[in-house]
Amino acid sequence: MSDLRNRYWNTRVQSLSPYIPGEQPRDRKFVKLNTNENPYPPSPAVIEAIVKAAGDDLRRYPDPACTELRQTIAARYGVKPDQVFAGNGSDEVLAFAFGAFFASGLPGGRGDTDKAARPALFPDITYSFYPVYAGLWDVPYRRVPVRADFSINYEDYLKPSGGVIIPNPNAPTGRPLPAAELLTIAQYLEDYHDDDTRESGRVIIVDEAYSAFGAESLLPYIDAHPNLLTVHTLSKMGSLAGLRVGFAIGDAVLIEGLCRMRDSFNSYPVDRLAQAGAAAAIADTAYYDAVTAKVIATRDRVTAALTAMGFEVLPSAANFIFIRHPEKTGAEFFTILRDRGILARHFNHDRIADFLRVSIGTDDEMDVFLDECRKTAAGADQ
Ligand code: PMP
Repeated sequence: MSDLRNRYWNTRVQSLSPYIPGEQPRDRKFVKLNTNENPYPPSPAVIEAIVKAAGDDLRRYPDPACTELRQTIAARYGVKPDQVFAGNGSDEVLAFAFGAFFASGLPGGRGDTDKAARPALFPDITYSFYPVYAGLWDVPYRRVPVRADFSINYEDYLKPSGGVIIPNPNAPTGRPLPAAELLTIAQYLEDYHDDDTRESGRVIIVDEAYSAFGAESLLPYIDAHPNLLTVHTLSKMGSLAGLRVGFAIGDAVLIEGLCRMRDSFNSYPVDRLAQAGAAAAIADTAYYDAVTAKVIATRDRVTAALTAMGFEVLPSAANFIFIRHPEKTGAEFFTILRDRGILARHFNHDRIADFLRVSIGTDDEMDVFLDECRKTAAGADQ
């Protein structure tokens, strides 16, 4: 980027390191296994609700509080509507949560400095948007190394911090944590008190983007843990990545904090069509239970087949798998697949550069993928 343009950026924009989303190719037809979308369509009830909402009322702003959607979510998960916040994808909800709950202020940095400004903690291998949000809001953070087998040691989080965020299951590894371990962190952060800094009580955010595919949800525990915020999305389990709806469930005080962020930014992040479609999706549990069961069955079949071919496959509780070719580097394996019309996701990061994350597609798509894996494991591409 030329200096001429940089001249107009303030120091905040100059210091950002934006997230780079997975490719959405427009030119060529790929077997697309790179962004963890659901391979099955949304429920017909969703389309019906969106079509119904696409009328004259579009001239009016949507309900800023997403009242009906929140009521539907509350009824579905057995919570109260004031324990629910809806946003424009869970990315937006997470961005608000970082800004609202983690200690902010870098030493010598810009803006107000929180009294404690201890670093927020998250795993070194995790959703790569987290450090970006931290950068946006001047939240100091520390990456806590996962073990050699990529599992998370919850005891590493039982220490003073500015707050904790952990996805369950983790991404891109797919490894889940037992609810009890996350609750131990929640209790530690709730009880935590430092006489010197007078810091007390910190928030734990559990990102449940993929929990429907096999991890224990912490939703039953939000009443007992007022510092626990769970974050959810319709992009994966709801087959609605294109609608952009995510939500958080937690204590009403946390939800109020998110509302304060939203209303300092954009009062209407969830449009009329999205509110209608999302509510219909949440209500159609029978349809989505069946879709989720199919994805899980395919994942388990593919995991067994790849393991038999000699690939390393981490045990996944998500709608993707994290795999290592027996001989090729991650970059080589990525290119082999891409040349053959299959898109996976490669993260050129420390410790995971030899792995690819592969989203679970339909059975037919995964058979195409498995055929190519079989060829490359047998050395046909050499
Ligand atoms: N959390 C995790 C762990 C994710 O992988 C993703 C998807 N990239 C998200 C949140 C965001 O999903 P969305 O904004 O589509 O709700």
